Amino acid sequence: MTRVAIIGAGIVGATAAFYLSQEEGVEVTVYDYGVGQASKAAAGIISPWFSRRRNKAWYRLARLGADFYPRLMEDLAQAHRPSQAYEQTGVLVLKKKEEYLDEVMERALAKKPDSPLMGELEFWTQEQVQQRFPGLTGFDRAFWASGGARVDGGVLVEDLLQAAGLEPIRKEVKLSWSQDQILIDGQLYDKILLTTGAWLGQILEPLGYQIDVRPQKGQILDYQLELETDDYPVVMPEGEADLIPFKNGKLSLGASHENDKGFDLKEEPQILQELVEQMRPYYPAIDRYQATGVRVGIRAYTSDYSPFFGPLPDQAHVWTVSGLGSTGLTIGPLLGRELALGILGKTGDLDPADYPVSQYVTR
Ligand SMILES: Cc1cc2nc3c(=O)[nH]c(=O)nc-3n(C[C@H](O)[C@H](O)[C@H](O)COP(=O)(O)OP(=O)(O)OC[C@H]3O[C@@H](n4cnc5c(N)ncnc54)[C@H](O)[C@@H]3O)c2cc1C
Repeated sequence: MTRVAIIGAGIVGATAAFYLSQEEGVEVTVYDYGVGQASKAAAGIISPWFSRRRNKAWYRLARLGADFYPRLMEDLAQAHRPSQAYEQTGVLVLKKKEEYLDEVMERALAKKPDSPLMGELEFWTQEQVQQRFPGLTGFDRAFWASGGARVDGGVLVEDLLQAAGLEPIRKEVKLSWSQDQILIDGQLYDKILLTTGAWLGQILEPLGYQIDVRPQKGQILDYQLELETDDYPVVMPEGEADLIPFKNGKLSLGASHENDKGFDLKEEPQILQELVEQMRPYYPAIDRYQATGVRVGIRAYTSDYSPFFGPLPDQAHVWTVSGLGSTGLTIGPLLGRELALGILGKTGDLDPADYPVSQYVTR
């Protein structure tokens, strides 16, 4: 029996737990503190194709991460039951200068051969948009991609853990050395996955590692509308404020990006109000609704905005991952599966050498 411990049950750790639970001869223990978890605070937009980022390794990961979702949903349905967390309801992109939508279309068409999941690409008039999302206004045309999706990160994490038959131990654990072995709260495991998101520094620095990962706070508003929003698409105007509709009238508006707040989890009314103000020209009805909740989470960034995953430089049986930034729900499940395979010595679809841990974790 191989005893694997996973520290952190966000989207990455929960997916790793799910795939490890499918393996013979593996006993999995999951620890999760949960406070500030990005996965359950996330907006949930899966639409990486229209970004202007030029980093090829990142884009490959983002594209494959989006492609991985249908497979994950199938695997979950087979192992347990269908999950309602993910759905391709399409995305609408809006630009203040609408001629920039032509560039979005150009970029999308160039990427489409490798990314058929993005679906149909069209320009829609305001009237066409309003048939799918009544009340949207303030533009003449929008870019539409039918394959864009939304995912409820909190629900997906729960579904994955349930399918794995695992209940995380809800506490903040600490690591220590026993000669050259890493212990978790004094216990030895055969293999360890550190899927602690933005908190990788907190857990590894006491062992003498230096970690290039910084926190970014994100805040998001939730609403409950008296509307059938099941098929409403995600709306992405320029700026921070996006609209993410879920089933049964649930609508989220977010998210903010605060680089100077560390791990602070306080709700900030002024920042939340700015999100409403950014959205008002496109969705004036937002003023009629009272937010039913606020979520606050912490994203993880490396200094060059690239994620990394693989074994610790000097500990082949300890694999880690971080730096998923603002696209971690998109790439997290794929990375979780890669970690589950990697820790068992199996080959996945990605080469960890393309996302080297040693660039961000040193001792
Ligand atoms: C407001 C917001 C909006 C976002 N929107 C999107 C989006 O639309 N699309 C997208 O793709 N991505 C989005 N993201 C990014 C995405 O949510 C994250 O990149 C991703 O969820 C990170 O997953 P993770 O598993 O690495 O970390 P997390 O989800 O943060 O999970 C890490 C877990 O480890 C636990 N942990 C840490 N240290 C310890 C310890 N010592 N002991 C026990 N447990 C520990 C934490 O408590 C936490 O539960 C958003 C993020 C935020 C905050």
